[in-house]
This record gives sequence, structure tokens and C-alpha cells, in this order.
Amino acid sequence: PKYVYDFTEGNKDLKDLLGGKGANLAEMTNLGLPVPPGFTVTTEACRYYLEHHELPEGLDTEIEEHLAVLETTMGKQLGQPDDPLLVSVRSGARYSMPGMMETVLNVGLNDDSVVGLAAQSGDARFAWDSYRRLIQMFGRTVLEVDGELFEDAISAVKHDRGLTEDVELTATDWQSLVTTFKEIVRQETGRSFPEDPRQQLREAALAVFESWNTPRAALYRRQERIPVSAGTAVNVCAMVFGNLGPDSGTGVAFTRDPATGQQGVYGDYLSNAQGEDVVAGIRNTVPLADLATIDPDSYSELLAIMERLENHYRDLCDIEFTIERGKLWMLQTRVGKRTAAAAFRIANQLLDQGLITLDEAVQRVTGEQLAQLMFPRFDEEPAGGAPRQRIGRGMNASPGAAVGKVVFDSYTAIKWSRSGEDVILVRRETNPDDLEGMIAARGILTSRGGKTSHAAVVARGMGKTCVCGAEELDVDTKNRRMRTPGGAVVEEGDVISIDGTSGEVYLGAVPVTDSPVVRYFDGQLDPASDEADDLVRAVDRLMHYVDAARHLYVRANADTPQDAARARRMGAQGIGLCRTEHMFLGDRRSLVERLILADTDTERDEALAALLPLQRADFTGIFEAMDGLPVTVRLLDPPLHEFLPDITELSVRVAVAEARGEARENDLRLLQAVHRLHEQNPMLGLRGVRLGLVVPGLFTMQVRAIAQAAADRIESGGRPCPEIMIPLVGTVQELEIITEEAQQVLGEVADERGVQLDIALGTMIELPRAALTAGQIAESADFFSFGTNDLTQTVWGFSRDDVEASFFSSYLEKGVFGVSPFESLDTDGVGRLIQLAVDEGRAAKSDIKLGVCGEHGGDPVSVRFFHAAGLDYVSCSPFRVPVARLEAGRAAG
Ligand code: ADP
Ligand code: MG
Ligand code: MG
Repeated sequence: PKYVYDFTEGNKDLKDLLGGKGANLAEMTNLGLPVPPGFTVTTEACRYYLEHHELPEGLDTEIEEHLAVLETTMGKQLGQPDDPLLVSVRSGARYSMPGMMETVLNVGLNDDSVVGLAAQSGDARFAWDSYRRLIQMFGRTVLEVDGELFEDAISAVKHDRGLTEDVELTATDWQSLVTTFKEIVRQETGRSFPEDPRQQLREAALAVFESWNTPRAALYRRQERIPVSAGTAVNVCAMVFGNLGPDSGTGVAFTRDPATGQQGVYGDYLSNAQGEDVVAGIRNTVPLADLATIDPDSYSELLAIMERLENHYRDLCDIEFTIERGKLWMLQTRVGKRTAAAAFRIANQLLDQGLITLDEAVQRVTGEQLAQLMFPRFDEEPAGGAPRQRIGRGMNASPGAAVGKVVFDSYTAIKWSRSGEDVILVRRETNPDDLEGMIAARGILTSRGGKTSHAAVVARGMGKTCVCGAEELDVDTKNRRMRTPGGAVVEEGDVISIDGTSGEVYLGAVPVTDSPVVRYFDGQLDPASDEADDLVRAVDRLMHYVDAARHLYVRANADTPQDAARARRMGAQGIGLCRTEHMFLGDRRSLVERLILADTDTERDEALAALLPLQRADFTGIFEAMDGLPVTVRLLDPPLHEFLPDITELSVRVAVAEARGEARENDLRLLQAVHRLHEQNPMLGLRGVRLGLVVPGLFTMQVRAIAQAAADRIESGGRPCPEIMIPLVGTVQELEIITEEAQQVLGEVADERGVQLDIALGTMIELPRAALTAGQIAESADFFSFGTNDLTQTVWGFSRDDVEASFFSSYLEKGVFGVSPFESLDTDGVGRLIQLAVDEGRAAKSDIKLGVCGEHGGDPVSVRFFHAAGLDYVSCSPFRVPVARLEAGRAAG
């Protein structure tokens, strides 16, 4: 195969082979843009090298040939003593990865050619500066010398000479530093810096290949699910110099503002600088617009190129460029990263410009981005007011905006929140003992740890705002205070505000508003009104399109008429999961206790009879809110002891009462029942359909309430469409017994009330055995609803409530999985079972309705899977409905 491509030979669609950087350099070259010539060694060569520990045969010759062409084009040879060709050696995978080797600039310099470069450029300082940069970068990245040693050496010289800035150092200073750097290399590696230009090139290229397998890169790949087999390309590019004086410089540019999406000129420029200087923040950059006065010709050329690139890529591009003595050179471009708001605005603008179609526009935004736009946020800082006091910044670990009093331990968090305070739990890092405090807090702030730290993982699982790793904050939990970089001290009880979307931390209460996007979805903001901005209009336009395009219906999980109504406004096409357990709490607890304690059939029937009208009223309201749309009601699922008092509290109460000789008969019986119903592992105990089979009359009471509520609604002219769902079925026999009873009750109510009731009876598929026997179960079910939370628990053998808090952060850190399987469906394992159940269920009953309820129904990646698996609908929390609609439409596109 061909292992080396000249920039004139590649194009932007060859990213797999040439990496992102190489493919785009080739594309720009072929557009006729001023790119310094060069060539790319393919990812295929990398793969070969990593597998065989030697370069593929013929590669050396191929590189030599391309280098010869480059030398001819440039009219000078690599490292030629009197006028050297210099090159950069740049890594460039399909995806950019932290931990990969960085770029080595100025390859080709040595003790001879540095003199030639000085003579040719007429600038000795420039030549020696370039040479020390080569030794420094080569030393650090290829020879793995600690970079600090070089930095320290520079600082020492500056100190000796009483200087503060690098730019103040002279040719002689750099020349002496070259000697020092070489000495450092020799001491640290036991060999000398290679003077042979071709050896420099070869070693740098091999180091790029090898850096594919650094532990950091490997971990990143596992977490991001980048295939280990991809490999990286190596780009060799003729050097151009931004450090040749005031008429030279280097910069970065964006074709639109990546933060807001607004069109305009965005970027930074630094005169008399090379490569990394711009991002390294060594000296202050100027806004790109200033280039208009610094170098008007280059500026207007750059603007023309930016427009050309945007029209060509039909998207926001980011660009690296260098100006060498008034001549503009393009060094990199790619479709640029952007914020969620910018993504929607840009898609809409490009649509307006006729550059992309609606179908393409919806591929330019993601459900994840839409979700980000829906979180509450801090108000924009009012102009002219007192500036907000930012005291730190960390990782944006879990989005949202939270305001509250600072507490430094879990116990205080719980205590204060019980008395109605909003608290922010601040810790250095969290551990499983902090769980209850995290639940009690409005938000969580830590000074250590990244996005896979305990705090981050648990907060995301709970949907709680979290900023982690705010390292500038010195958290002193012992003395209950934290010190800010400015020296201020935040004590327990002081109010702070944390922004989980940006990672910012503020002192004091920053006002929070609902996002306009949520107000739009909730019907409070008309996109055509003046109050709506272009972001809301962009969202509106794309939503209309995805709603028409998608095959999946989107329902919501809602248990109350209020939630149902809100879900409907958000675009839900029914309820996929109406839980009934909350209907047994509060005042109704005593009725449930009576049911559990009943000694005789009569006592039990009385308790059930008392619950019936209450249940009926619950359903009437929900059916009304969802009139004309399906409402899937799940019969009681959780184990009964959840409705009884806590075992410890009750034991204490009884013991105290007994000591006083006033023990009440009822409490004693309750305590017995609590003991009897106590389970080691309730998740796998007496719950769901098992309850229905063991507690006579419980499920039939619920079915009767549903049927009567439907009859009531029909009589008032409504169109109720209930569906009854039986949880935790493992075998068709369980389902048969319950559906037979249910059908009888439905028939009775229809007769009594003289109405026709078409109520579907179906089951959840949430146990592996149910999935494996879906063909049999389908015979007795009108529909399946995949309960992916329990299915994930039972397929993995993970108890969700335990594992997320205890060890998931280490699993994520070690890269066992890139994302919690409770957050995003494990398509390989759980998904495979779902697919099997879909196929066998449909084979047994072709018109069986298939849906999914559970958190995954609102997770963008999972929604795409459910679309591909051929489900009819997904159901998720009301706030996630728009996200699911968008992803379902994108998946269908
Ligand atoms: P990264 O992927 O970190 O952006 P690059 O390969 O783009 O790495 O290079 C790092 C820096 O060096 C960038 O600022 C880039 O513009 C600059 N650079 C790379 N190659 C050259 C070259 N041939 N001439 C001048 N500057 C270069
Ligand atoms: Mg770059
Ligand atoms: Mg379940």
C-alpha cells in the first residue's frame, strides 16, 4: 500500500487514513490556499508499526522520496548548512486526544544549520531561539525529558540578567541556553541531542506513532470509545516563521463566535511569535480585529480565506495561521467545536444562507446540546451593576445552576436542608459516606477530581448540579471554611452560587432564571414574539422538522395530572409510565397498614374498598390531562415494607412504650409485620407481579379503579386511553394469572357502567428471563415496555443505589466503561437482550406495541438505539421529552 500522501494528494474525506489535521491540510492545499508544502504518513503505517514494532517495508524509501520532492519545491535541503529547510513533525489522529505526542517544530536545525539560518534571515536571535525550541520540544516529547528542567534553565538566565520576559533575551542568551539544553538532554537520557536532521525527523515520527499507546491516550480512548485500532498519522510540514520580527506573527481564528454563534471576526493574534506561544499565554495576545491595522493586506486575505473555508466546509471552521514577514500561511483548519447555543444558531444561519438543508441542520445539533439549553441558568450579568464576585472555576461536572449556604459535611447538609435551607455541599472530594448529604444539597462543589470523580458521577446520576476540581479553592473541612485565590475566606453558612454548566463559582446569591428554551417548550414563550431571541426561533424551526421526520413516538413518565399536563405541553404523545406507588403514601399509609395487617378477608376487603375511590380519583385527573392519548398505568411495584414505618424507629417506639407499660396492640402487630416483610435484597424480593399474586385483591382493586375512572371519563364526554402494565414479570404464567383476573374485572365494570372499555394489558420486560422468553410472553401481552433501569440492574447484577455511589467512579476512571450503563444504555449487553425480545415478541405477535420507559428513554445515544431496534415509542421524564423528540428525528434522518 501507499503509506505517504503529499498534501496535494489527499482530501478532507480521508480522515481515517490521514487523520483530521492531514486530511484538512490536503483539502486546503487543493483549494489553492497558501499552505506550506508537506506530506502525511498514514495511520495505516502507524498500525503496522505498533503491531510489528518496525516500519513497514518501503516506508523509509517512500518518506525519502516525498522529502526529496519537498526539498525540490522549497529549493533547499533539510538542514542544509547555509540555508536549511526546516519542518514541523505533527501528530494527527482522526480524533484529537490528550496524551498524544505534541508537535516538534524546527526539525532540521543543528550546530551548523543554525548559523546558516541566522545568515539567511539576517536575525541571529531568531535562529538561536528557533534552535533552542527544537531541543526543548524534541527533548520533552521525543526523549521524554522533564519539561520543567528547560523552563528552569530559562528562568535562571532571566534571573541572572535581571529580566522578566523571554522577548528580552538576546541571541547570545539563547545560544548559551542551547548549550545548557543539550547538557540537560545528555544528563537526563545518557545520549546527546541528535544533530543529523534526517535522524531527528525519523525519531520524531516514531515518537508520534508510539504516543498512540501512552497510558493517558489509551485511557481517553476507552472512555470515549475510540477504537484502539485507529492509529495516528504524522504530518511533515515545511516551517514558516512567525517569530521573524514585528511584521511576523501567529494566530488562531474562528469563522463565527464559537460561544454564541454570532457571525463576525473572532480570534487572537500575537506578533513576533511561534506556534504554541498564542495558546501558552506567555505574552498577551491582541484581538484578531487588530490585525486590520497591524497588517491590512494579510488581514483582508485571511478574511477572504475564512469565508471561502466556511462556504466550502459549510460550517464553522477554526483556523491556525502564521504570518512570515507579511506573507500569510494557513497551518490548520477544522470544523470547530462550539457551545450548545452556538450549535443551534449556526445550524439555523447556515440554513438561512442556503448552505445546508434542514436534514443536515438537524444533524448539526444534538439532544445533549438541547438538554444543556434547558437547564436553569444564572441571569446575564447586568451592565453597570456591581460585578459578580467569581471565586473559582472547576469542571462543569453536572449542569444546572445552584445557590445555597455552604456546608462542609454531610451531617450539616442534612440538618440544614431539613429545616428548609438550600445548601451547597463543599468537600475536597466526596466518598460514599457523603451520599445523603449530596441528596440533601442543592448542589455539590469539590476542589479535587475530574469528570469521573465520585462527586461528578453520583451528581450526574441524581441530576444534581455539580462543579468539581475547583483547585484554586482551598477547602478546609476541619475548620469549616474555604479560602479563595483572592485570599477571601468563605465560612460555613455563607451563600455561594455554582454553575454546573460553565464550572464557575460565585460568592453570594446570583439570580437564577428558567431557560427561555424551556419556557418555549412549556408554551410560555411564543417563538414569533419579540421576546423570543434567535436561539428560541432556531430551536423551534428544527423541532418542527424532527417531529415530522421521526418514526418513534415520545411519551412521558408522569404520575400526577400536573405532570401529565406539563408533559403534554412539552410534546409528549401519551404517558409511557404512570407509577402508582406514590398513591399509597401520605394520608393513605394508614389504609395500606390496614391492608397489610388484615387478619381476615373482610378486614382486607374493607381496606381495599377504602383505597378504591381514592385510586379512581387519581386516575380520572390523569386521563383527563392526557385525553385522547395513551396512558400506561403500572400496577404497584415496590415491596410492601416500603409503606411501613422504618424498622429501627418502630422498634425503639415499641420498646419505649413497653417499658412504660403502654405498648399498643397495633404497634406490636406492625412491628411483627415489618419483621416478616423485611428483605435482605428488596430489589429482587416480593415486588411487582409477585405482590399481585400474593396479596389477594390488590391488583384487581387497581384495575377496577382504572376501569371506573375510564368509565367516568367516557360519561363526561372524554376519550380515555388507559393501558395496564404489569411489572417484574419473569414468566408467562405470572402474566396469565393476572391478566385473566384483570379481564374479568374490566368486563364487570363495562357491564355495570354500560360502556365499552378497550384497555390493553401488557407487561414490563425488565428481567433477563422475560426478555429471553419474550415469544411466550407476547402471547399473553398486548404490549411490552422495556424497563431498562431494572433490566440494566439485573443483566449486570448491579444494585443501582449501591454501585453508583460506591465504585462506579473507579470503574469510569479505569475505563471499564466510558459512561455509566444507567446513564446510557449498554447496547452490547442489555441492548442485545432488548433486540432479542423485540424480534421474538414481534414474531409471536406482529402487532404487539413496543416501548421503553426508564431514564434511557431520554438519553440521546440510547434513543438512537431504540429507533434502530424498531421500538414504537420511548418514554422519559417530561423535561427530557424535547430531547427525545430531537434525537428520534435525527435518528430517522
Ligand atoms: P496542535 O494539534 O496542538 O494544534 P499543531 O501540529 O497544529 O498541534 O502545531 C502546534 C503549533 O505549531 C500550532 O500553533 C501550529 O500552528 C504550529 N505549527 C505547526 N506546524 C508549523 C509549521 N510548519 N510552521 C509554523 N508553525 C507550525
Ligand atoms: Mg494545531
Ligand atoms: Mg422496574
